[in-house]
Amino acid sequence: MTTSFLQIAAVPHYWLCDVRVPRSLLSHECFAVAGDEHFSFGEALPTPENLAAVDIEIREGKIISVQAMDSSDTSLVPSINAGSSLVWPCFVDMHTHLDKGHIWPRSPNPDGTFDGALETVRQDSSQRWDFEDVYRRAEFGLKCSYAHGTQAIRTHLDAFDGQGEISFEVFRALRDAWRGKIALQAVCLVTLDYFLDKKGEKLADLVAESGGVLGGVAFMNADIVAQIDRVFELAMERGLDLDFHTDESLDPDDITLRLVAQAAVQHQFEGRITCGHCCSLSVQSEAAVRETVAAVKAANVSVVSLPMCNLYLQNRRQGRSPRYRGVTILRELAAADVKCAIASDNCRDPFFAYGDHDGLEVFTQSARIGHLDHPIGDWPRAVTRSPAEMMGLDNAGLIGEGMPADLVMFKARSFNELMARGQRDRVVIRNGKQIDTTLPDYAELDDLMR
Ligand SMILES: [Zn+2]
Repeated sequence: MTTSFLQIAAVPHYWLCDVRVPRSLLSHECFAVAGDEHFSFGEALPTPENLAAVDIEIREGKIISVQAMDSSDTSLVPSINAGSSLVWPCFVDMHTHLDKGHIWPRSPNPDGTFDGALETVRQDSSQRWDFEDVYRRAEFGLKCSYAHGTQAIRTHLDAFDGQGEISFEVFRALRDAWRGKIALQAVCLVTLDYFLDKKGEKLADLVAESGGVLGGVAFMNADIVAQIDRVFELAMERGLDLDFHTDESLDPDDITLRLVAQAAVQHQFEGRITCGHCCSLSVQSEAAVRETVAAVKAANVSVVSLPMCNLYLQNRRQGRSPRYRGVTILRELAAADVKCAIASDNCRDPFFAYGDHDGLEVFTQSARIGHLDHPIGDWPRAVTRSPAEMMGLDNAGLIGEGMPADLVMFKARSFNELMARGQRDRVVIRNGKQIDTTLPDYAELDDLMR
């Protein structure tokens, strides 16, 4: 029995037949497809797109079986023929700034530079960021994310002085309100010098009480080693994971990523560590890169790259065309077996004027910017399973038996079809049911933009 997707939404048990899943997104590698021929995995040569042709059985919101296409009797329960559509697990967006999001109409970046972004956000936040303002803009971001098929988000929250209290209150409220739809995590964002006195300790307490992650912006200065050490101490005293902004510049002398990795080894840190941006690696000597990558690997530090935001901000000068992309060396990091994710970063704010919290746009743009193609290889993991692991989410980012049926189905049968279009007509399935993917209207925020 074959039925349409809208009809199936109401039944608790069905097969999703003839779908193609990037093999790196299956919980155990099983089947590959080449052209119209299907092979069981052991027999098949690696195919250009590494896709598996499978049927997926879904019951009570869970995936209960993943089988090679046509290998099981699917006639006993309703089934949908997906026509070889690509199916991915829902996205995990592990580096965002929901507190800054969508202020662009009232606070645009005057010249598109990093300094212009810092100053504009400083002014906007000091005048406007009360509970309601931050809550409504952050929730707008969650609505976009959810509609595009994202199931988990980590946001950094500016946390200087009184802002930390406000923004972490927003975080706790949104985490509760969106539980079951989007798993939300938060990281405090201050420059690391903030941790050298009492207020840094108070912030670490706030993060711990809120179930958050400790972090901040590491920048080169005379005290940087002491600052990083202090953050590790505060995290270890409270059992917190760490997430830093490191080396968001094209200055080859910026090596805070390496310093964080070295500190992790010295402190024998046992929590998870993520470093974001790491742009300066792209302009350093091969020897410097080798040293840093080895330190990162030894310390088990994960890297998250933010290609859309880096492309916008890095190497921007008035009246001059950019010469560099600003994106870290993802291919080399992955080749060294460093866990890598890619994520949205900012959205419609002075650090990045555009974006819509869409995991597919992040993936597609990153593949183009960072040459993560030919072959695509395991890169689909960078917006799904790898960030899920970096966030400690065991049940996210893979398709396999026992996993929640949180899936995105695209009207595309290959990576080429997937990445050539924006895929606004994708079907998002949460807990086995199709959800409404209507995006929030920008007008919802009009009263905040005056
Ligand atoms: Zn960031």
